[in-house]
Amino acid sequence: MKWVSHQAVTGVLAYAVTSDLLFTAGAIFGAIAPDKIEGKREGLFSIGWRSRHRGWSHWAVLYVAAFFALLQYFNIEDVQGAILNENSPVRLLFAFLFGALCHIAEDALCGKVPTVTPNIKWGVRLFKVGSLREYVIVIVIIIAIYLFKNRTFLSFFFL
Ligand SMILES: [Zn+2]
Repeated sequence: MKWVSHQAVTGVLAYAVTSDLLFTAGAIFGAIAPDKIEGKREGLFSIGWRSRHRGWSHWAVLYVAAFFALLQYFNIEDVQGAILNENSPVRLLFAFLFGALCHIAEDALCGKVPTVTPNIKWGVRLFKVGSLREYVIVIVIIIAIYLFKNRTFLSFFFL
């Protein structure tokens, strides 16, 4: 997926889940983090890019572990409260991790991502990155999230 697609899908999903603009902004930053961590395909840091591509930077286990480490460190029992409370010290970090996990799930729709280890990968290839099909699928996902969020609107038609 192109970064704009990652950011659009993740941003819409984050806002649908939290109805919070700051959380959404943090998630949009996280939505490109795995690729930023991975480094560039061209230029000075391109050496070994192929082997690093969608390696440990795209390993969901690390982001989930970071989430639990934050829970432990800040002694958080109420996760929803920590996400929605404006004074929560970890609110933006949670948003960032949420965005990164969305990125990995989205990448699994157009190639393979790590599963139980960084080297055991899984994914489907619904579209080629940057293709028209990618943008159509992104729009369909966004509409699906919108409709799911507004279920009462749907029930008007289906009941
Ligand atoms: Zn990626």
